[in-house]
Amino acid sequence: MSDLSHTDWQARAAALSFRSQAFIGGTFVDAASGETFDCINPATGEVLTQVAACGATDVDRAVAAARRAFEAGHWSRAAPGERKAVLLKLADLIRANLQELALLDSLDMGKLVQDAVTVDAPGSAHFFQWHAEAIDKLYDEVAPNGPGDLALVRRVPVGVVGAVTPWNFPLDMATWKSAAALAAGNSVVLKPAEQSPLSALRLAELAAEAGVPDGVFNVLPGFGGTAGKALGLHMDVDALAFTGSTAVGKMFMAYSGQSNLKQVWPETGGKSPNLVFADCENLDAAADMAAFGIFFNQGEVCSANSRLYVERSIKDAFLEKMIARAEAMQPGDPLDPASKMGAIVDAAQTERIMGFIGAGRKTANLVAGGDQVTVAGRGLFVQPTIFDDVSHDDPLAREEIFGPVLSIVPFDTEAEAVEMANDSIYGLAASVWTDNLSRALRVSDALHVGTCSVNTVDALSAQTPFGGMKQSGFGRDLSLHSFDKYTALKTTWIKYRA
Ligand code: NAD
Repeated sequence: MSDLSHTDWQARAAALSFRSQAFIGGTFVDAASGETFDCINPATGEVLTQVAACGATDVDRAVAAARRAFEAGHWSRAAPGERKAVLLKLADLIRANLQELALLDSLDMGKLVQDAVTVDAPGSAHFFQWHAEAIDKLYDEVAPNGPGDLALVRRVPVGVVGAVTPWNFPLDMATWKSAAALAAGNSVVLKPAEQSPLSALRLAELAAEAGVPDGVFNVLPGFGGTAGKALGLHMDVDALAFTGSTAVGKMFMAYSGQSNLKQVWPETGGKSPNLVFADCENLDAAADMAAFGIFFNQGEVCSANSRLYVERSIKDAFLEKMIARAEAMQPGDPLDPASKMGAIVDAAQTERIMGFIGAGRKTANLVAGGDQVTVAGRGLFVQPTIFDDVSHDDPLAREEIFGPVLSIVPFDTEAEAVEMANDSIYGLAASVWTDNLSRALRVSDALHVGTCSVNTVDALSAQTPFGGMKQSGFGRDLSLHSFDKYTALKTTWIKYRA
């Protein structure tokens, strides 16, 4: 939590220093090529720092360091309780540096610092703590053989895990991948998105301070087509955990086939439906959460509730509530705790969002927002935007925009709502609003998604698996199931005289 004022945050931002080199084998180093790229604050257009642009040579160096560390066994063969102690210390260090980590994400990709310091950074500490505490409570199996045959079935770390993450929750995505992978005893090579590498580099430094041995956690800033691709194609990476777009998730599957058949765990895009039925008693709460579901983090959320299906009898009244909420959430300086929405990550993403809005003006009814704006005369900001009368087939209702753009589609029957909700290549999440318990369960059962939230949106905790169906991917982050990705089952069969 934080009660810092706007000027406090501005002063801290001005005093901040950045880690800008790659973290390989326990040391910060330049990219082998010496190349760097600019880290730009999208709220101001200012260059924050120049970061190492890692390439294939750096991936080789990092994977070699990770492999050496894995084989040395100081981490991979440490007792689970020892890894737990180190990762709990890391969780404490994250808490001790909460404001700095929050600022790094806010400056790097435009999110509200208030959200970063109350949601993202505490979430990172919590997820490290949760996975650390879990790892010495997982028991292995003894197979039910007869006398004379003792077969131990154990979970062992897979080895070197590559992790490639997106820019929308930089610290949390780095955490979701690395907390479980590290707790399970793997070595990790993380490539954060080029738009937002700063918090992952600081995380690497904190991990070293906590006692994670050299080479066990490496962070390579760089571009997808170079560093990301080299990691995906690497012959000595055992598993690749990816979060990002569906298109790039498919590339990682192909990289695996072209190289060493590494396991690939894609967590990809979404176009989550939110179904509001007329029998929902608290429509104000539904509208509050529907607005949160699409406008939180500028709509740059994989599970953003970007398709709102409202029963026709309440549609006009609900639309009014939504417009009022959108108007109250105009963008502001991400460092101002009073701001309701931050900046869009970069010019390309802003252009993409405005492209959808421009096309939507011709095919649907724009009822709120719709403009790109500046704050204090600068930066990349888009108003919370709502389109009404959107045809189910309109790109507004089908494609992942990844911005603050909501499409409203009315429905007449439950069956029609479910059919439209399911008619998508994506299946990450959905929300349902109703006070009819049977309907809640029936609709939840019928929706092909990884998480269905009833009378809330984006329900999520460390205890529940997060991931999708269909082209939203198939890996699961969080919960004990996250260890499925980062462990292999190993059988040791012992013959003895019974
Ligand atoms: P992206 O796919 O463009 O990039 C994600 C990562 O992949 C980045 O690190 C990038 O450098 C790398 N990459 C890009 N091209 C590559 C290539 N050719 N080879 C190897 N690596 C490459 O996605 P983004 O724009 O950073 O993030 C937005 C996407 O992430 C959205 O689709 C969103 O839904 C998705 N997302 C999904 C989840 C989830 O849990 N399912 C969570 C957050 C974000």
